Amino acid sequence: MVVIAVILLFIDGVGLGEEKAYNPWASLSTPHLNGFLGGSLVHQTTQIKGRRGIALLSANPSMGLAGLPQSATGQATIFTGRNAPQAMGAHQSGFPFRRLREWVEQDNIYHQFAHREMTAAFANSYTREFFERSATKKGWISTSTAAARSAGIPLRTGEDLFAGRAVYHDLTRHTLKRVIPEVETITPEEAAGHLFDLAQKVDLTIHEYFLSDLAGHRQDETLMQKVVEDYDRFLGSLVERLRREDALVLVSDHGNSEDFRVSTHTMNHVPLLIIGSEAEKIYDEWTDQSIDLTYVAPLLIRLAEVRKHKKGGLEHG
Ligand SMILES: [Zn+2]
Repeated sequence: MVVIAVILLFIDGVGLGEEKAYNPWASLSTPHLNGFLGGSLVHQTTQIKGRRGIALLSANPSMGLAGLPQSATGQATIFTGRNAPQAMGAHQSGFPFRRLREWVEQDNIYHQFAHREMTAAFANSYTREFFERSATKKGWISTSTAAARSAGIPLRTGEDLFAGRAVYHDLTRHTLKRVIPEVETITPEEAAGHLFDLAQKVDLTIHEYFLSDLAGHRQDETLMQKVVEDYDRFLGSLVERLRREDALVLVSDHGNSEDFRVSTHTMNHVPLLIIGSEAEKIYDEWTDQSIDLTYVAPLLIRLAEVRKHKKGGLEHG
């Protein structure tokens, strides 16, 4: 059987900032990102066609609404392909209110894949505490959890995690070890291996990382150093594993960590990084358009359908 991977990496609170000391994505070392982008993750390097099959586009997270872009509506847009701030009348932060949650549950990327007879998985694992709390406090779940759960996507557990069938939100499990000291941490490269293996089994695999947003809000330089190093290593290892037919998309919901002068989100655009054989074609089609977060879900469907088609062709040929 021909196995082909399409991966969405969602990283919270990473905008395209300036090449300045206050931007950790520019001032700290990111050898892997720089290796394939030909420069650091800043706005000067946007709209570039990097080396073989790499496109970095700049996406507007404001979605036509005033004020700072926020997580709940930003993620809702990424996971549905519809303009959530416009539907709600404002940018909304944190865990979604009931109206937004129901709006996400109606239709989202998981439903959209299922309608096309394609499968999708959410790679993050949840702790037992999560299952206990979400059973009693109805409004507590995040947008990404609501989206997966509404389509009957099974949420991964600690058992999945320790068997290598899930990836912890922090990649290396170091935050889990603080709560459960027996937990052994893994390297970002091992986390990339687990995600890549998972991605062979379904048409779309999604991972969500949010320590970047947390580090930005806290203006925590120590945490941010770990975020940048871990994520760069994870991404580097994942990209190294990709084969010609595979595709990887990375996107954020709003800026934050790229400007350590402020503890709030920013108005900066966010990176939409596309890696795969379609990247240059998409770059050529989109380069004159003003891209926003509604582009992500249709892009994932397109990438998976190209691959499904190729896969079918290979299997039958
Ligand atoms: Zn935030």
